[in-house]
Amino acid sequence: MSNEYLNYIDGRFVVHHGDRIAVHNPATFELIATVPDAGAEVVDEAVAAARRAQPAWERLPAIQRASYLRQIAAKLRQHTETLATLIAREQGKVLPLARVEVNFTADYIDYMAEWARRLDGEVLSSDRAGEHIFLLRKPLGVAAGILPWNFPFFLIARKMAPALITGNTVVIKPSEETPLNAFAFTRLLAETELPPGVFNLVCGRGASVGSALSAHPGINLVTFTGSVGTGIRIMQAAAPNLTRVNLELGGKAPAIVLADADLDLAVNALVASRVINTGQVCNCAERVYVQRSVAEALTDKLVQRMAATRYGDPLRDETLDMGPLVNQAGLDKVGQLVDGARAAGAEIRTGGAVATLPQGYHYQPTIVAGCQPQMAIMRQEIFGPVLPLQIVDDLDEAIFHANDSEYGLTSSVFTRDLNAAMKAVRELQFGETYINREHFEAMQGFHAGRRKSGIGGADGRHGLLEFTETHVVYLQTA
Ligand code: NAD
Repeated sequence: MSNEYLNYIDGRFVVHHGDRIAVHNPATFELIATVPDAGAEVVDEAVAAARRAQPAWERLPAIQRASYLRQIAAKLRQHTETLATLIAREQGKVLPLARVEVNFTADYIDYMAEWARRLDGEVLSSDRAGEHIFLLRKPLGVAAGILPWNFPFFLIARKMAPALITGNTVVIKPSEETPLNAFAFTRLLAETELPPGVFNLVCGRGASVGSALSAHPGINLVTFTGSVGTGIRIMQAAAPNLTRVNLELGGKAPAIVLADADLDLAVNALVASRVINTGQVCNCAERVYVQRSVAEALTDKLVQRMAATRYGDPLRDETLDMGPLVNQAGLDKVGQLVDGARAAGAEIRTGGAVATLPQGYHYQPTIVAGCQPQMAIMRQEIFGPVLPLQIVDDLDEAIFHANDSEYGLTSSVFTRDLNAAMKAVRELQFGETYINREHFEAMQGFHAGRRKSGIGGADGRHGLLEFTETHVVYLQTA
């Protein structure tokens, strides 16, 4: 089985003789596979291959680069079911969501391919007669993509597709928690005509492969999705080479529910936030500020829905709402935050304990009412099926608490009052705001966090431009 999991460098699968990392199913604890734990010398080889391949890749017309991306997307679609099952098995998400992840990944690659005929520069008027000023957008060179485990398959595309269409080559490092889907992705990519060295995969731990990539002088951009602490370490490692970083980090998204809101709509959106991917989503609502007069009604509806949430092993029952958390550390963190809130006087209205299933990292769907601003559960990322609520008297108070956070990724507002919605848009200091809908970004938008939620962003035209730099040319003619 181990031969299925080989690093991919310069168009070849490379046998690994060193240490290996065990990969487990978080719903059953079953050992699924072991994968390479590569070292710095393998990173060197991958970066060298990416550097060699880059000039020719950049010289190709973008529409030809797009044709390779489309081949990859088509391959993924042919294997949706196998890929989805693998993702569910190693990461724990339910199969319908895993299928969405695979299809969304293929769509995202096709979307980035569509930019081929839209990549442009600018022509500026000059102060001099006969002079032309061109702003050209050029690739950065080699991008390192370092991935988390929560949407492991999609994140490959979010790093690789904009990099490749703009003429960069890449080295991808999957999370050691969920590497198997990245090997599967790479095996399918290897069946396309993509030139060698354009896409390279190196699997290993953060402390070895991740830090070697971040500190590598041959890397021009580190594009990372993961936790704040790792983002800081990556920035420090990149600093000596002044390597650019693009950091998509954690979130603690506030949702504001005003008295005039459609409560059923708000409940649907909030429950989705805590149940989708078992609450392990950076952009989903993690804390609620509800106006006093509707607090009890909203809480009752949330309790009913969360208590009815069905969970277990996603591969045993396709109809479940959610699977397990990814690992013991995740389960421990959720438990500590809920226990801390309880001890500080919050009220557990449903759930509040590790689930009593025979296997798997399951935590009960939980509603915590009566929270206060200083409680850790209102300040730290929970990343589990737990929703804390705090009562506020008005929109000003809600906005004050929403902004009082080290995170600034997404936010939402539920109201029928257009003036209130627009006031929230003006005053909320977040990269994204959802009004009367669930937290879920579009590929043509721009996913970017303020404060410790990150630097730079992804998706759409603005995300694409993060993989380019501007070259200005002054052309003097007679
Ligand atoms: P993590 O930071 O623990 O690990 C992410 C990746 O970084 C892994 O591949 C890991 O091996 C690597 N890594 C670890 N130490 C490293 C080091 N010193 N140098 C370089 N790389 C290193 O994050 P995680 O637990 O896998 O993911 C969950 C986090 O990701 C959450 O905080 C979540 O909010 C965040 N996230 C953010 C977004 C976003 O778009 N903003 C999207 C998904 C997840």
